[in-house]
Amino acid sequence: MKLEIELVPKSSWYRNLRSGLSRDEWNNIRKEVYKKAGHKCEICKLQGKLFCHELWNYDETRDMQKLMGFQALCEKCHYIKHLGLVNVKIASCELPNNFIDILTDHFCKVNNCSKEDFKAHEESSYKKWINMSKKNWTVELTAWKNRMHNKQKTLENFYEDK
Ligand SMILES: [Zn+2]
Repeated sequence: MKLEIELVPKSSWYRNLRSGLSRDEWNNIRKEVYKKAGHKCEICKLQGKLFCHELWNYDETRDMQKLMGFQALCEKCHYIKHLGLVNVKIASCELPNNFIDILTDHFCKVNNCSKEDFKAHEESSYKKWINMSKKNWTVELTAWKNRMHNKQKTLENFYEDK
């Protein structure tokens, strides 16, 4: 599937690169990511407001979660990646009640699949998330933070020696 749900294990919530950077540093990264993506969503190619999504790799043998890079995503694709957050926002009225339906339609369109496929994917993502959340993941960000503090703060350098 082109677009998949990516739930971050509970032990790692809020432990991301963004929260360890200044607003300017994060903005620099975001701008580079959007430019690299041609100012389009990297999954569905939609133009408009973009979000900078952190891409993680989970090493299950060492319980290590490593930041691999970034992806420019439209609002809908980004919310699908973080579907757990959507439910929280609906419960607190930050998002409308029918937002799940809007996201379901987007998911089906992008993946060319049925609503049943979405439901099955959602269920298996939650099962995976429950298992992953039982572990205490080590979040590996050191390399990225060090690169941020080097004098050449462009994304090209980040990717070069990843
Ligand atoms: Zn998109």
